Amino acid sequence: MKKLQSVFQLFFPSFCSCCENTLLFNETIICTDCRHDLPFFDNKNFVSNPIQDAFMGRINLKYSGALFEYRKKGKAQKLIHNLKYKDRQDIGVFLGNWLGTILTHTNTFSEIDCIIPVPLHPKKKRKRGYNQLTKFGKALSYHLQIDYVEGILLRTSKTETQTYKKRLERFRNTETKFELIDNLAFRKKHILLIDDVITTGATVESCYQELIKTPNITISVLAMAFTV
Ligand SMILES: [Zn+2]
Repeated sequence: MKKLQSVFQLFFPSFCSCCENTLLFNETIICTDCRHDLPFFDNKNFVSNPIQDAFMGRINLKYSGALFEYRKKGKAQKLIHNLKYKDRQDIGVFLGNWLGTILTHTNTFSEIDCIIPVPLHPKKKRKRGYNQLTKFGKALSYHLQIDYVEGILLRTSKTETQTYKKRLERFRNTETKFELIDNLAFRKKHILLIDDVITTGATVESCYQELIKTPNITISVLAMAFTV
């Protein structure tokens, strides 16, 4: 079988999603070198880490974490770029399985009730064809044995009028609007919000401000990568 597979790869080689070298028959998505080179984010105990520091005084997250450190032109960037813009949803599954396996070795996330993704604007989703977080979230939900819920938190249209106000909002980085269509769906629940890359944290903060309208909600955040 392995022989057949390597013959197949000889004619239809697949390439590493980080460095573009040809993958060996026993490698999937990324090569062994890249697997070792990818910079893991040090989550510590998911309570005191640079992500929590970034949100300190802004929002109150119970736990936060990420799989990788994100650097410009780094390997994590390349991987997430392929997932988002090259129709490589298999990378989402791969990253979800990787992070999910790490999380099952800690009890921290056993108290989470469900996973929700940062939503894409419907227009963007139509254009891309998928939310890059869906496969990632579903893989995480499989490992953590909790529900994955899409469609209750929505990204709404930006207002087309009031150009000056829009410009001002963009300057403040608060132009993104989210809407929770059911304020009771997550009542008394511990929600795990997932995102691809956390940089300024503005998107997560906007989602949080909408989610916190739910009575007795607890919110944690996990990302594929955190900008260092
Ligand atoms: Zn590689």
